Amino acid sequence: MNKIYLDNAATTPLSEEVIDAMVGTMKMNFGNPSSTHSFGQEAKILLENVRRQIADYLHVTPAEIIFTSCGTESNNMIIKSSVENLGVERIISSPLEHKCVSESILDMKNRKGVEVAYIRPNEKGDIDLNKLEELLKASDKKTLVSLMHVNNEIGNIYDIKRIAELCKANNALFHSDTVQTMAHMPLDFSDIAVDFASCSAHKFHGPKGAGFAFIRKASGLKGIITGGPQERSLRAGTENVAGIVGLGKALEISIKNMEAYATHMQEIKDYAIERLSAEVSGIKFNGRSAEKENSLYTVLSALLPYKNPLIGLQLDMKGIAISQGSACSSGASKPSMVMMMVLSEDEMDGCTPLRISFSHMTTKAEIDALVSALKEISSDYAIEKTNVEHR
Ligand code: PLP
Repeated sequence: MNKIYLDNAATTPLSEEVIDAMVGTMKMNFGNPSSTHSFGQEAKILLENVRRQIADYLHVTPAEIIFTSCGTESNNMIIKSSVENLGVERIISSPLEHKCVSESILDMKNRKGVEVAYIRPNEKGDIDLNKLEELLKASDKKTLVSLMHVNNEIGNIYDIKRIAELCKANNALFHSDTVQTMAHMPLDFSDIAVDFASCSAHKFHGPKGAGFAFIRKASGLKGIITGGPQERSLRAGTENVAGIVGLGKALEISIKNMEAYATHMQEIKDYAIERLSAEVSGIKFNGRSAEKENSLYTVLSALLPYKNPLIGLQLDMKGIAISQGSACSSGASKPSMVMMMVLSEDEMDGCTPLRISFSHMTTKAEIDALVSALKEISSDYAIEKTNVEHR
């Protein structure tokens, strides 16, 4: 069976060039980048080259890039250190954030007594920036705003440039989880006044276990992992040299092909919307997912008009890997917070969400296979439903 991978928002396959670069580094550059001898210094040069490359992409200085193990670590570090070292007493966020952000905020609320205000999105997943401004003006406490750039479940894009402006005008720090956008779209942090951002290499055909945090120098943020002076004492621990080289290679490929990849993925997404709408009766799309200007081309969040908690498994048995989302309220899976925000109670009870996510390697033939599989499952479901009704 030819397997089809449509879960690229969860992770992406490594590209051959990335694997080659990493293997080469593991074989030839095993030195510890903190060692002063030539083995160490050769590894250090590799790290600094990638740091410079990231800084150029984001239009910031290399000193503002701190290598970490992943997006989760970067987001934890930024949120927790803002409270513990920068005196943040209040956090404004939304229920749409990834768990590594929302759980870090909750931890700071429970352990440090930080005040938390959430902006509830509307049913399209939009965040009201007037509400943000109102909240920013409502308190003199030192505030961190944490709002993501692109949502990983519905693909909505948020206006982080405007959010950053509101934060600056009201003396608040601004953290944006940019894990779903780094290397997928141009980002210019000399124009967007974000203080902190995060990146994870495995979301753009790089390796797992490598990421970075962007920490604006003027913020004065400190690290939370203590030990040696690595990463300018902001993140102790010997760096994952091969992983970082892989991150750099993946970023280089993404930047070189950004426009072509974007065009391809948007075409695939448009095709998926068109075919699914025509062939899967009653299908809908969640949030701003089906709107070109307001969602990223990597993610399409669909809603099937019947409840089938086993759909992920059924598609997997047909060789199609997809993320189900978890609005289904039965069984062990808890409803996802994002789905709770964008679906009505009836939809939560009676429908099935599907997250279809693309890469530059996704083909129309793979979308055709998904459509056929969904038609088959949907018709089985219709037969089953009729049998139950007639019993
Ligand atoms: N933030 C967002 C928006 C994500 O989609 C993810 C991963 O799914 C993360 C953070 C966590 O990244 P990592 O898997 O590198 O820890």
